Amino acid sequence: MEQSSINNSNNIEQVKRINAEIQILDMKKKQLQHELKTIQNNCSHDFVETELMRKCRKCKWTESVYY
Ligand SMILES: [Zn+2]
Repeated sequence: MEQSSINNSNNIEQVKRINAEIQILDMKKKQLQHELKTIQNNCSHDFVETELMRKCRKCKWTESVYY
């Protein structure tokens, strides 16, 4: 019983650390997505077209050709 309560409190610390790390990664992800969007918004696209979509070979922006 003693052992299990020690393990549980360790879990809580670990869970807190993991959650904090997830939050940091989420923020980092949002920041990177924003950065990518900025690049793609400012790109003079050079599209490669397939039957389904076109993709810019400079910034990887993709666009469906079905409307
Ligand atoms: Zn582009």
